[in-house]
Amino acid sequence: MYDDNYLARAISRASDGRHDAIFLFDQQMGRPQSYGAFWANAERMAAALVALGLVPGDRVAVQAPKEIAMLELYVGTVLAGGVFLPLNTAYTSDEVSYFLGDATPRVFVCAPEALEALTPVAQSAGVAHILTLGAGEQGTLVAARDAQASGFTPITRDPLDLAAILYTSGTTGRSKGAMLTHRALASNSETLSDYWRFTDTDVLIHALPIFHTHGLFVATNVTLMCGGSAVFLPGFDADAIIAAMPQATALMGVPTYYTRLLKDPRLADASKNMRLFVSGSAPLLTETHDRWREVTGHAILERYGMTETNMNTSNPYDGDRRAGTVGLPLPGVEVKVCDPDTGATLPEGEIGVLEVRGDNVFAGYWQMPDKTAEELRPDGWFITGDLAMIDADGYVTIVGRGKDLIITGGFNVYPKEVEAVIDDLPGVLESAVIGVPHEDFGEGVVAVVVAQPGASMDEAAIMAGVAGKLAKFKQPKRVIIVDELPRNTMGKVQKNVMRQTYADVLKT
Ligand code: AMP
Repeated sequence: MYDDNYLARAISRASDGRHDAIFLFDQQMGRPQSYGAFWANAERMAAALVALGLVPGDRVAVQAPKEIAMLELYVGTVLAGGVFLPLNTAYTSDEVSYFLGDATPRVFVCAPEALEALTPVAQSAGVAHILTLGAGEQGTLVAARDAQASGFTPITRDPLDLAAILYTSGTTGRSKGAMLTHRALASNSETLSDYWRFTDTDVLIHALPIFHTHGLFVATNVTLMCGGSAVFLPGFDADAIIAAMPQATALMGVPTYYTRLLKDPRLADASKNMRLFVSGSAPLLTETHDRWREVTGHAILERYGMTETNMNTSNPYDGDRRAGTVGLPLPGVEVKVCDPDTGATLPEGEIGVLEVRGDNVFAGYWQMPDKTAEELRPDGWFITGDLAMIDADGYVTIVGRGKDLIITGGFNVYPKEVEAVIDDLPGVLESAVIGVPHEDFGEGVVAVVVAQPGASMDEAAIMAGVAGKLAKFKQPKRVIIVDELPRNTMGKVQKNVMRQTYADVLKT
């Protein structure tokens, strides 16, 4: 099916001829959508886009709540030769204005309640068509889809043509549009589907947002790639996930999903027939990994990736899933740890900047040739900006973001090392260590700590706890106890926000 469109061919292969097989169970196994219906709708969505004047390479931007029609729009855009551009639903109209101005999409799809406010924003960015998805209503994209005849012939797309642009989360500066090719998406989905043993009997619980690489490309493309099913939930909901587990086989989540699910007394029973729990997008605490194994008998499989590269490493399906590591390079992906200044490859066991290369890596930043040249080497190695270490067995450990490295009095402090010591102290649930301005040292170490439920905790106890365990320059100069760490929608701790909040705590 779809022989001439590289990505569509890859993700439709497993469902070819299986029209009645279920692709999506909407909410708690109600209203299932078959593969036949999904592909027919995606084709008509493609026809509707072409009727709006879409030509190959045109961007289709969308900022809307998660629903099945949005996946049809994603695949329809690919079939029509367009470039899918999903936007985080949390973005404000100012932020949307930047993205639309930068990406200049032909079509922008937004939530009905945002239409009035975003219409002038989109118009001033020169967007030709502003619509909502909106099932059953006039003038919406779904209405335009339903007016089309079936049988759209996909536009020819080659491996190196663009299929999507995803803006990076921008936790370290202005958001950049990562250009993802048909080959990058197809190859990574195929690799993950094989590596994690997905087949057409799998039922994945899909609770992740679909504006991000995790929910859109890992979860959705892997399901399409294996021809399996997904329980399509609008977002994280512990009740809905627990209810879906007995009929499901796999869950993909960010670490906070797992910490929240662990609080549910029904977890052990509900998870009995599941075969796989995948975590990523932010570091999974060793404590969460261990607790999950105790409660469910399953070792969470942690993987590592980013918007620019899709997934790079994964703990093995059969072998040792090592807590605190992100596993081994995926087949077809090369990794190395380099000196941040010279770029020279460092020996095993040393900490440096992780670089990755493979078909999974993006084609560059949209209209930012200078940024692209800074981060993507001509020989294909991408400088991730993550600090990492590779051990003798090839397992990769992420030590933090390069930008999070603290330099205090000329000494380097890797936050993760300090966090690990604090997290081991009695009564500590988790911690985040940041560098903030310090008169003498340039930066000083500050720890922000969350106590375990019911535990009492104070600054002096933490200071005393780390005293014999860390060199003096690594020890926090202040400890701040909070109820929870600031996180973005993907569960990432927002150290940039914390650096602002606590900017003055070391000022005298
Ligand atoms: P994003 O582009 O929003 O997906 O963010 C990618 C970043 O998330 C990576 O560069 C890492 O810093 C972080 N990340 C993703 N997965 C993991 C993981 N399993 N452990 C630690 N950090 C991770």
